Amino acid sequence: MKSILLIGLGRFGKHCALKLNELHHEVLAIDIDEERVNEVLPYVTNAQIGDSTNEQFIASLGVRNFDVCIVAIGDKFQSSLETTSLLKDYGAKLVVARANRDVHAKFLLRNGADNVVYPEKQMASWAAVRFSADNIFDYIQITRDYSIYETKVPKSWIGKTIVDLRVRQMHKINILAVKYAGKVEPLPGPEHVFRDDETILVMGGNKDLEKFLRV
Ligand code: ATP
Repeated sequence: MKSILLIGLGRFGKHCALKLNELHHEVLAIDIDEERVNEVLPYVTNAQIGDSTNEQFIASLGVRNFDVCIVAIGDKFQSSLETTSLLKDYGAKLVVARANRDVHAKFLLRNGADNVVYPEKQMASWAAVRFSADNIFDYIQITRDYSIYETKVPKSWIGKTIVDLRVRQMHKINILAVKYAGKVEPLPGPEHVFRDDETILVMGGNKDLEKFLRV
């Protein structure tokens, strides 16, 4: 369990609060707007109304005691930047700030953010990959060059094993898991026989994966 300071409770912040609650983390939620604070109260450990650009307010929170501080203010860039910078000044260990534009991401990183989440860009990229192909169910970009895809088992693989197919040698990809009826079998053994009702999670270089997904 981690202790998390969540600042800004618009749609993004609220979704963060809901998920963090589901994951059983300890969350202190902050917003300048009382109504927004009240809305998340059932899902967080504690909540406070306050202006995160106010230095005294940030000083009162003991930000160095949190494992992660999330700045979920999106539209008001000036507030997001000031908050991020204050958190770092007061010793926050890990500051994650939300960006709405490339230039915002750049300035947030320069002014105290250890990490930036850029929902529109990241989700747009995911949606473009996910919905532009019939056989991709999920996708994670690990680095610029490497990704993980969840995809259908190719028709020609059904009834064959990983060894039969010489997956690594032929496709230069690794099968991380097999998914069937919502259950995951991590690292399937070389004798795993592929079925048409399962999906596979494959990792590899983007070029190799692109070739494989055309199989
Ligand atoms: P979202 O896009 O997440 O729905 P929004 O568009 O309603 O958010 P934003 O300007 O991105 O509004 O701000 C997100 C939240 O952060 C809002 O609930 C807002 O009240 C809060 N907020 C903005 N500035 C501050 C501040 N200085 N201190 C505390 N909370 C703030």
